[in-house]
Amino acid sequence: MNLAALTTAPQEEVARQMGVCNACRYCEGICAVFPAMELRRTFAGGDVDYLSNLCHNCGACYFDCQYAPPHPFAVNMPSAMAALREESYARHAWPPAAAHLFERNGLTITLALIIAVAIFIGGFVWASDPAALFASGLEAGAFYRVMPHNTMVAIFGGALAFAIFASIMGVMRFWRAAGPMPVTPTSLWRAFGDAAKLRYLDGGGMGCMTESERPSDRRKLYHHLTFYGFLLCFASTSTGTVFHYLLDWPAPYPWWTPVKIFGVLGGIGLTIGAGGLLIEGARKHPALNSNGDGGLGQAFIWTLLLLGTTGLILTVLRSTPAMGILLAIHLGVVFAFFVTMPYGKFVHGLYRTAALIRHAHEQAQIK
Ligand code: SF4
Ligand code: SF4
Repeated sequence: MNLAALTTAPQEEVARQMGVCNACRYCEGICAVFPAMELRRTFAGGDVDYLSNLCHNCGACYFDCQYAPPHPFAVNMPSAMAALREESYARHAWPPAAAHLFERNGLTITLALIIAVAIFIGGFVWASDPAALFASGLEAGAFYRVMPHNTMVAIFGGALAFAIFASIMGVMRFWRAAGPMPVTPTSLWRAFGDAAKLRYLDGGGMGCMTESERPSDRRKLYHHLTFYGFLLCFASTSTGTVFHYLLDWPAPYPWWTPVKIFGVLGGIGLTIGAGGLLIEGARKHPALNSNGDGGLGQAFIWTLLLLGTTGLILTVLRSTPAMGILLAIHLGVVFAFFVTMPYGKFVHGLYRTAALIRHAHEQAQIK
């Protein structure tokens, strides 16, 4: 068991509510949080960070709870855990100074980055080769007249490498805070399976209750579309790299290539999924909100929506003189996404998977 002290107000609040839940245990079949809670008598800092990242904010335990406000015990686990998750993302982020930079102004900073990078790319091309900015983009290599391929690789490869490194550092800090635990092939298999299926995002099988007591599967569907849309976009970029370097075939590509098919399907998934998540977020019951959202969650979903829509618009209009401007905007969104990845809701997927690995191992030990 991890005995690190509770150091923040959100940690103390989750530990307080877990004390009530551990005596009650009415919700033990709903999700992974309660079986993990029952393995503990006391809750240290790393424990509550871990438990909060097992929670999917489905709302079921709030609507089921006889101790929810106005009861004096004031148990509202979805809200308390959401507040702790947001606080824990910032606390574990690497480097710590950057986390504070993004903590309160996620949406503003992301939008500023998108606009600044789009203006920078557009201005750069305007100053050096205005004709390239307004040329259509059907012929091979047209994108690289707007920005040379090597420049693109250096800027975006550098931003992505930093984002991956900073994200890994953050997850390692989170993992260490919860205490040492072996990572076995069995726990990895179980955790990746649960993450891929979004197990536990269904209120124990009935559906998500983020809007009211009436369960719905919409949030799970939009999560799936967003997640698999993102993976398809990643597959598109990866196959594009293979085409460029191994087949000596520069972008853009015809519609029948895997690069294009993955990209279009991924863009549609991202657009519908992220758009749906934003609508679900607006419909969310006010009691389930964390009251501490600094905007990064919203900024991340907006960035995903912009990634999908700007990519699709670029695909549709690439044969027109708008191609250069649209490419600059899309690249601006991609850059903003990479730079903000370690400091926003993106890490939620990494922390959640790490928590599921820990949970799978713990549960295997007691069987
Ligand atoms: S959320 Fe409420 S009903 Fe559920 S275990 Fe906790 S105290 Fe009991
Ligand atoms: S909100 Fe849902 S996922 Fe989170 S603790 Fe309650 S029942 Fe579990």
